[in-house]
Amino acid sequence: MSNKNICIAIDGYAGTGKSTIGKILADTIGFRFLSTGSLYRAIAYQCLLKSVDVNNIREVLSVLAETSLDLVYEHGTNTILINGERVLDFALRTREVESATSIVAKYPEVRERVLSLQKDLVSSENIVLEGRDIGTVVVPDAQYKFFFTASPEVRAWRRFRQQQNAGENTTFDEVLTDIMARDIEDIKREVSPLVPARDAIIVDTADVSLCDVIHMVYSELNINANSEDNSSIVLAQ
Ligand code: C5P
Repeated sequence: MSNKNICIAIDGYAGTGKSTIGKILADTIGFRFLSTGSLYRAIAYQCLLKSVDVNNIREVLSVLAETSLDLVYEHGTNTILINGERVLDFALRTREVESATSIVAKYPEVRERVLSLQKDLVSSENIVLEGRDIGTVVVPDAQYKFFFTASPEVRAWRRFRQQQNAGENTTFDEVLTDIMARDIEDIKREVSPLVPARDAIIVDTADVSLCDVIHMVYSELNINANSEDNSSIVLAQ
């Protein structure tokens, strides 16, 4: 990593608030933000589009070989390009894509592809990166590392409420089952498993408000915010 750039790594389980908090934090301090899961989601999405069985590594690798993956950053938002075409974020957030993502994310070749994109970003600007292996593999020398956790039930309730608000027709039990299945895939995989970096600050987000988590994370940073008035952090919740 270039000495002049700062990386804040936020790793942890699905549904712990990593994206929400990472984005607010990045906006507050004027850093770029990237939810790295969207890159893995894009590969899973492309496999499903090509009707590939994601459990068949050969089929996944053949899709990967003929797929270019790029990121454009406009007006504070990342857009993923697959073979030059924009992919809408909501297309990456379906239940089907979500389940396929933890499977394709196990394959070393998939991780290598996503790793090189992430390393390019880290070497070019100050960034908040959110994912599963940022502090352990992608940027082991990140200046700040956080690992977010919460019980599966709390995380499933959050996801369930989000999905209800989005008009999705799922039950709480389905969401809980999905979350636990993804946890197992992410923890048990051989390459870059989901594990806290030894020097990460562990943050249990279960019984604290979004605002409190932001304040807690922010208080660990030795960075001047863009805004002279730190109350912007409170207003952003
Ligand atoms: O964070 P998000 O829910 O978008 O991540 C989707 C999936 O992508 C995760 O469940 C995990 O399998 C994979 N992932 C990963 N490494 C990352 C980010 C996401 O393996 N750094």
